[in-house]
Amino acid sequence: MSLLDFSTLKLKPALLQNLESIGYTAMTPIQQQSLPHILAGKDVIAQGKTGSGKTAAFVLGMLEKLDVKRFRIQALVLCPTRELADQVAQEVRTLARTIHNIKVLTLCGGTPLGPQIGSLEHGAHIIVGTPGRIEDHILRNTLKLENVETLVLDEADRMLEMGFQDVLDAIIEKIPAQRQTLLFSATFPPKIESVAKRIMIDPVMVQVESTH
Ligand code: ADP
Ligand code: MG
Repeated sequence: MSLLDFSTLKLKPALLQNLESIGYTAMTPIQQQSLPHILAGKDVIAQGKTGSGKTAAFVLGMLEKLDVKRFRIQALVLCPTRELADQVAQEVRTLARTIHNIKVLTLCGGTPLGPQIGSLEHGAHIIVGTPGRIEDHILRNTLKLENVETLVLDEADRMLEMGFQDVLDAIIEKIPAQRQTLLFSATFPPKIESVAKRIMIDPVMVQVESTH
């Protein structure tokens, strides 16, 4: 066993077994640096290039903390686009294969609201979505975020470039202040720094330049 293996982390046996079966053995550098802090419950800002394995870092943190017996929305992941939200939801499903009865729901624009509202009525543990549609559901009272314990902003730089700042603020206002906030980004412009200062508590900053 190498120090770089997932098995060095305090993860549920079901998660470790699954990681092995899908061929994730060694952690990528960003996972090595961020996961110990994420699993310790800290707020974390992680900056790394596309393809560095950021998704698994926050998904494993979310899944380790999640109580599947408590059928409430415990984690919210915000992504800039529907394609990215679909990719994240797919990674959640892959990494959660051994966690039975886990319900992951994707809420993005460009899809009729009716079926989404129906799915929300049936409940979920994890929501992955785009800011506009998430805000829409909040305003319609079809989405309640009062039980969210983990908030993830994925590709935060892109969300800000796309002008989602106010929408993000409106969403975050509905999430309990006592939560873990994880922010992932390929770049770290001053705008992100100021957002992080407002929405995170004493964040750990992790930066990885290369993917190897
Ligand atoms: P990022 O969000 O940083 O752009 P992704 O999370 O999409 O990167 O990961 C890129 C690819 O690497 C994905 O196909 C993912 O399945 C794979 N991957 C991530 N972590 C590992 C790992 N520890 N071992 C093997 N493959 C991994
Ligand atoms: Mg990513």
